[in-house]
Amino acid sequence: MSAIPSARILDPSINLSPLPGAGQLNPPDGSHVDVLIIGSGAGGGTLARHQAGSGLKVLVLERGDWLPQEPQNWSAEAVFQQGRYVSADTWHDKHGKAFQPGSHYMVGGATKMYGAAHFRLREADFGELIHHDGISPAWPLAYDVFEPYYQRAEQLFHVHAQQGEDPTEPRRSAPYPHPPIAHEPRMQKLVDDLRAAGLRPFHAPSGVMLDEANLPFSRCRKCNRCDGFPCLVHAKGDADVVGIRPALADQNVSLLTRAQVQRLLIDASGGRITAVELLRDGEPMRFSADVVVVSCGAANSARLLLMSANDRHLAGLANGSGQVGATTCSITALDYP
Ligand SMILES: Cc1cc2nc3c(=O)[nH]c(=O)nc-3n(C[C@H](O)[C@H](O)[C@H](O)COP(=O)(O)OP(=O)(O)OC[C@H]3O[C@@H](n4cnc5c(N)ncnc54)[C@H](O)[C@@H]3O)c2cc1C
Repeated sequence: MSAIPSARILDPSINLSPLPGAGQLNPPDGSHVDVLIIGSGAGGGTLARHQAGSGLKVLVLERGDWLPQEPQNWSAEAVFQQGRYVSADTWHDKHGKAFQPGSHYMVGGATKMYGAAHFRLREADFGELIHHDGISPAWPLAYDVFEPYYQRAEQLFHVHAQQGEDPTEPRRSAPYPHPPIAHEPRMQKLVDDLRAAGLRPFHAPSGVMLDEANLPFSRCRKCNRCDGFPCLVHAKGDADVVGIRPALADQNVSLLTRAQVQRLLIDASGGRITAVELLRDGEPMRFSADVVVVSCGAANSARLLLMSANDRHLAGLANGSGQVGATTCSITALDYP
């Protein structure tokens, strides 16, 4: 008799959440909350999930909408050729040349499209690094401070891999939460050949809801539509499926979609953000909070800080260095030239 995959079925992160109440998806203009999170992607979606159940009133503001579950999710033509899910933004490079940035505005942010590869930074990444273009100074915090959070994120995002295989792996306080994903036959042959040649190939850490011991019950079908595609069956550990949806099981968590924050407002001391202004379907709205979290993605977070310049912060908020947004780079520049 095959094992009953009860642990997986009972796992609350696998979207068995009750439908959110109408009020949770339609918070009234002018509301005050404890924690206001701008952006529902990897950062914002994870934080919302973490705050759920804390008793705090949490509001997530997301400029995009829910990504529809539809056959086009897995169509290379729709996704890559027609750009069905990519934003209509036009950005300009430092020479003024227009380009389409490949950004994704939706509940779950870029994780709806990501490849679910969950690599940790290495210990050395937190120290000073000398690059071709200059010195990257050491972070004020070392890898060990982040290690427990990596561990929790790997649990939340259902990461599969094998501890000890990757020769460059940083220190871990516990094994991966799920076993590595078995290679396809051709890949296994390649791995065997590489090992025979003295190399050390390893399973890439992957965040998917795969249960190879109980494949008929597994949510992930092991298709070849992870990187770059939304998951039609919600089997990818993305910030929508494992973050926002389960967070909304808590009545204290609200989400406003199609809500593009335009400006962060500071208090009289000039040192704290206490409110935000946004446009929803063209209509202005305003919310206030004790804590405001800007998690709009690297470029859009910088943009929002710069757009929030005022007479006390002429160069934008948190920009005493003049570096906000100045040296942002993107992997999409490598993937999609
Ligand atoms: C095709 C693709 C594949 C990738 N594969 C991987 C991978 O395998 N592994 C990996 O580690 N990383 C991968 N990444 C990168 C990864 O997805 C991002 O690093 C990560 O999602 C960034 O998280 P974030 O919270 O900073 O931003 P995002 O996840 O982008 O979330 C930002 C959110 O803020 C919203 N927003 C922006 N501006 C506003 C505003 N003014 N008001 C309200 N909401 C706003 C956006 O709509 C978005 O939902 C991939 C990215 C892409 C595009």
